[in-house]
Amino acid sequence: MKSRYRDRSVLIHGKFRSEKWDFEDHILPPITTSAAFRLRTAERGAEAFRQFANPELDRSTLHPIYIYSRLDDPCQGLLEENLAFSEKGETAVCFATGMAAVSAVLGIHLQAGDHIVVHKTIYGCSFSLITRWLKRFGVEHALVDFRDLPTLRGAIRPETRVLYFETPCNPTLELVDIVGVVGAARESDEGRAPDERIAVILDNTFATPFCQRPLVEGVDFVVHSLTKNLGGFGADMGGAVIGPRAKETDLLLFRKDFGGSISPKTAWQILVYGLPTLALRMECQQASAQRIAEFLEPHPLVSRVRYPGLDSFPQSDLARKQMRDVDGNFAPGSMVYFEMEGGPDEAYCRAVKLMNRLAEHALSVTMAVSLGQIRTLVSHPASMTHSAIPPEDQERAGILPGGVRLSVGIEDVRDIFGDLEDALEHL
Ligand SMILES: *Cc1c(COP(=O)(O)O)cnc(C)c1O
Repeated sequence: MKSRYRDRSVLIHGKFRSEKWDFEDHILPPITTSAAFRLRTAERGAEAFRQFANPELDRSTLHPIYIYSRLDDPCQGLLEENLAFSEKGETAVCFATGMAAVSAVLGIHLQAGDHIVVHKTIYGCSFSLITRWLKRFGVEHALVDFRDLPTLRGAIRPETRVLYFETPCNPTLELVDIVGVVGAARESDEGRAPDERIAVILDNTFATPFCQRPLVEGVDFVVHSLTKNLGGFGADMGGAVIGPRAKETDLLLFRKDFGGSISPKTAWQILVYGLPTLALRMECQQASAQRIAEFLEPHPLVSRVRYPGLDSFPQSDLARKQMRDVDGNFAPGSMVYFEMEGGPDEAYCRAVKLMNRLAEHALSVTMAVSLGQIRTLVSHPASMTHSAIPPEDQERAGILPGGVRLSVGIEDVRDIFGDLEDALEHL
């Protein structure tokens, strides 16, 4: 193109139109970061707005007209396709963080006067969102033990719109019977108008779609923190909601208006590095987690180890039924929770001492919150991730002062043993 523009302008804008701008030939998706997109004509611009979040159009086959990155962009769209596939869902919508995703999936289902039933043990910020903010917006909640299905059924009211839980629970790793909870919701749905039907929402961050695919079991929505195992490297934050296409419009509109969109650079990292290595990382982390749980269990200073792969796991049968990888193998995951020996004060002191020793001397174990990274992370739920939960509720949730959470990474497991052994010897 013979330019009538000067160098300075061309260096900003490049060649006005390039035939090379053809994503079909890329092996990797290009990272395209553009806050706004060229609409070409006023008519096409109007068509873009008509198409966005339009429930009559099938987003999975539509070539989108991009408008503005908060609404949609290519990397985000590609990631959403792969996430929906990974969870066997109809559609996925990504968010800036896991909490933005939790806020959205609750936000589209609840309004003032509604009621939500929540399992007693959930991630600290989800607990705070429900008990502090939703309450302020006129949404009442009940915290109940979802392992007790009659109690769960009893807690469902006519104005209940959502059942919300995690399994395995953060941090105690107790399990909830997914099929049982779905059954309780569907029972209660009988006789309800379609728009009063209960949404069963499961935070599948701990297990990941590698270990369980709850939508196949009848759960309505799965929510994820992409910051954890799906991102996998701890470099980026993100979240996702995966569920039926019927709610896609609401999720897209919620994201547009509340603004918690994922950055294309982040979406690209998760798409190119996170999801393709999920199975590889999970297999390695899970094998190490099993060995670490077995190593910790007989230790005299450890009173109890919770890991779904242990024979001593109280819900071993449920774990074996519900936690399965895509090939049908038992998949107990990469998280281990253990409690130090002694009364509450003594156990707490031991947990602190253990973690401080690890923090100062261990290469293979890092003291940090978060989980699901290639690095092994140790943290103290009662004073860190779950500190937003008042002490009485912590006790009810089984989060004890001497409890320690390990997220097992891909280091050589012999080094993790060595570091844990050293820290236990120094108690
Ligand atoms: C971390 C986490 C979240 C929140 O995710 P962010 O990406 O940190 O916002 C939600 N649920 C569970 C189970 C988590 O572990």
